[in-house]
Amino acid sequence: MNDSPNFHMTPDEFRQAGRAVVNWIADYYEQIESYPVLSQVKPGEVRSMLPPDPPQEGETFEAILADVDRVVMPGITHWQSPNFFAYFPANASGPAILGDLLSSGLGVQGMIWATSPACTEVETHVLDWVVKMLGLPEKFLSSGEGGGVIQDSASGATLCAMLAARERVTGFASNERGCDGRLIAYASSQGHSSIEKAAMIAGIGRGNLRIIDVDEKYAMRPDRLQEQIEADLAQGLVPFYVAATVGTTSSNALDPLRAIGEIARRYGLWLHVDGAMSGTAALCPEFRYIHDGLELADSYAFNPHKWMFTNFDCDCFFVADRKTLIKTLSILPEYLRNKATESGAVIDYRDWHVPLGRRFRSLKLWFVIRHYGLEGLRYHVRRHVEIAQEFVRWVEEDADFELAAPAPLNVACFRHRGGDAINQAIMDRVNAGGEMYLTHTKLDDRLTLRMSIAQTNTERRHVEKAWRLIREAAAAVTSGQT
Ligand SMILES: *Cc1c(COP(=O)(O)O)cnc(C)c1O
Repeated sequence: MNDSPNFHMTPDEFRQAGRAVVNWIADYYEQIESYPVLSQVKPGEVRSMLPPDPPQEGETFEAILADVDRVVMPGITHWQSPNFFAYFPANASGPAILGDLLSSGLGVQGMIWATSPACTEVETHVLDWVVKMLGLPEKFLSSGEGGGVIQDSASGATLCAMLAARERVTGFASNERGCDGRLIAYASSQGHSSIEKAAMIAGIGRGNLRIIDVDEKYAMRPDRLQEQIEADLAQGLVPFYVAATVGTTSSNALDPLRAIGEIARRYGLWLHVDGAMSGTAALCPEFRYIHDGLELADSYAFNPHKWMFTNFDCDCFFVADRKTLIKTLSILPEYLRNKATESGAVIDYRDWHVPLGRRFRSLKLWFVIRHYGLEGLRYHVRRHVEIAQEFVRWVEEDADFELAAPAPLNVACFRHRGGDAINQAIMDRVNAGGEMYLTHTKLDDRLTLRMSIAQTNTERRHVEKAWRLIREAAAAVTSGQT
């Protein structure tokens, strides 16, 4: 029972419980490989362990923490396991966890500069660092016309870019009167689903999102983009936005930014570049070719919450022209009026994204960058790419398997030559075993397995074991064992 007179946790109780939680997390990381990577619970199983009604009286912290083990842990899929190769990484790390904890402890709401100047200024500064760290175009620095902001997700960034593009092309008229159904957006067939969602939310209409064909490497075909724009113009429509992807979710394809950017410039389209996972590779100069042509983009986003060891949520969104973004999203109710805002000398980040309120998210990113340094971050990115390339060679050398798409960085798309049913059976078998977790995609309508090799703690031995498990599963499946 909670016996404090005013029900609050006292500072001493907080110290004690806090130590217990930090120890719990440290133990978790030490034991993480002993859990089945993919949660094995059935639908409803977690809820069935919870009481139907909330407690009338407060409970002890020990009781609460004990239920994390009993109720929560069986229902966890271990994204932080080094044997997690599914989807994309959602990396955590010690410094990021602690930065997030401090952000919770300070509990500031940084909607405008005045509500906590440090929340805004650390963010602006760290995002300028990120421009330098990734070798991004200087126009994204806050010292010029542009600047960066932390968004909740790449999806939020895609949406904000589309909204700003909509206002730019209509002279800020859509904000007043809504859209007229004539604005046309473009993305490749491999673009992320968040582009379609943005078209729905922004009032463009998903029917006005044109899906552009890809080439044999699953990258957008600029010739097809141009043809489609011409066809739309001939119909009296208004092309306004194109989203290009650096590292598509499905196969890690790299859209040709320069060719797309030149077309965007020629026809006056806003180019948004989505580098959600793969953008992090640009930490290493040898991988910066993925951003060739990025200086032609109006906006760019990537997620340190994927491959840069920073706990979800942390998407870095950069615009070349912050005025357009701010004018698109700003409204100033009386209760937020203040001298600093009116002086024009400060950034109020509430005008840079959809929500008004915002947490101190730059703390965790700042901690990560300072803890690892560029050297440490590059070390891990290089290791992941190196191991992934080794995995690619193992696939290529095995007569039963084939590579299904080029693997420029850390994602390998591959399949057993035996067809969809066999690949599905291999995947089900390795995932049920609990020792690893991988997922699939469809490329040219064929079921394709994916190894995304980018978890914070993944080492060569984990990938070696995964390849062994995959081949063992293939042997069992093809010989009819179940
Ligand atoms: C993962 C991913 C997204 C979505 O990321 P969120 O931050 O979860 O919205 C968008 N685009 C690409 C290319 C991705 O890989």
